[in-house]
Amino acid sequence: MENKWVVSKFGGSSVKDAAAMLRCSQIIENNPLIKIVVISATQNTTNQLEFIARAAQMGDENTMNNVTTELINKHVKIATELFTSPVVLTELEALCGELKALGLTILEERSFTPKMMDELYSLGERMSSLLMSDLLRLRLPNKNINFLDARHIIKTNSEFQRAEPQVDLILKNAKSEIYPYLNEDTIFVTQGFIGADLLGNTTTLGREGSDYSAALFGEVINASLVEIWTDVSGVASSDPRDVPDVKFIKELSYDEATALATLGAKVLFPTTLLPTKRKNIPVFVGSSLAPEEGGTLITKKQNAGFSLKAVSQLVKPDGVLVSFIGTHLDEKEDLAEILHKDLGENAFEFSDLTAVSISFKVISPKMDKIESLKRAHDVLAKFFN
Ligand code: ADP
Ligand code: ASP
Ligand code: MG
Repeated sequence: MENKWVVSKFGGSSVKDAAAMLRCSQIIENNPLIKIVVISATQNTTNQLEFIARAAQMGDENTMNNVTTELINKHVKIATELFTSPVVLTELEALCGELKALGLTILEERSFTPKMMDELYSLGERMSSLLMSDLLRLRLPNKNINFLDARHIIKTNSEFQRAEPQVDLILKNAKSEIYPYLNEDTIFVTQGFIGADLLGNTTTLGREGSDYSAALFGEVINASLVEIWTDVSGVASSDPRDVPDVKFIKELSYDEATALATLGAKVLFPTTLLPTKRKNIPVFVGSSLAPEEGGTLITKKQNAGFSLKAVSQLVKPDGVLVSFIGTHLDEKEDLAEILHKDLGENAFEFSDLTAVSISFKVISPKMDKIESLKRAHDVLAKFFN
């Protein structure tokens, strides 16, 4: 199959309101190669769905109703501002009905299973993708905007809330439901995060898992590029929210990006690079707020020599881990010792060394999370020039 189509994923902040959705549609309008659009739930909606389940479980009907109303109003506001069609408004209403019914079931039973939570979770992505599909219909009248239920494609095992994708089945489904339209003027709009098991039950890939969905869609259509549109202009040398003077990284290898994500950088879901690496598909990370700034391109290309590029942080049950990410780290003599000394031997303990990462555990009880990340970034900055 020709390898030219692009899969474009938009995260929660990228679709948080009508203006944000319009920015996404502009990105899609500007690139005729975008064939599959993968949408996350609108910002904070997945958290609200968890909140609703917990309130219902505790018998707190008031909170359950209040959060449900907030969530529904948020989506109705977007729909109104985007001039959503009556048909889609009816579909949105049906999803709101499902949400209320699930809440009431949990309230009655005073409990919910991971399976019920996945059904509840799915409503976030189903609502946002519905609104986005209608917006695209309005903005791209010459395209056939095909609303695709990801549960028809993304087959998984039955491990609810962290389901394992079954790639053979996903490929088979893509062949029958997506391939026939790949050369036409069709754009598929689908959901991240959700799938279905072999019995048809809704499953999810793990919180923040929409990036992984995009990579899986990319793999099975043999895309030329998977785009991850978020609220920052690519992968940076640390979390821009916590560290003020970060540098954005133009190029990363699959292995570096995987290490960074696995060791705590929230910008990518850790398994995102598995399908794309298998098929050698580049992954672009950029900001839907400022697409003109460009972003990070993640490919198989590795730096030939030693380099240090980023620091990340992982909060584990037994403590906080900070990690340095780069290439050929295991070949650079005394690197772990040098970094350890710069970090402060009283505050950090060496933990692990691989070709692409060196990790230290924070042992000083006085050092808080952000301070330890900033300290690590200061140490990293010495290697930049
Ligand atoms: P989305 O909703 O689009 O999936 P996320 O909140 O999951 O967005 O991921 C984007 C966030 O990841 C950024 O706002 C940033 O705070 C955080 N982040 C953590 N580490 C990094 C990093 N090294 N580079 C860029 N962003 C990072
Ligand atoms: N909406 C889901 C979450 O917030 C998945 C995602 O956004 O990636 O976890
Ligand atoms: Mg994310």
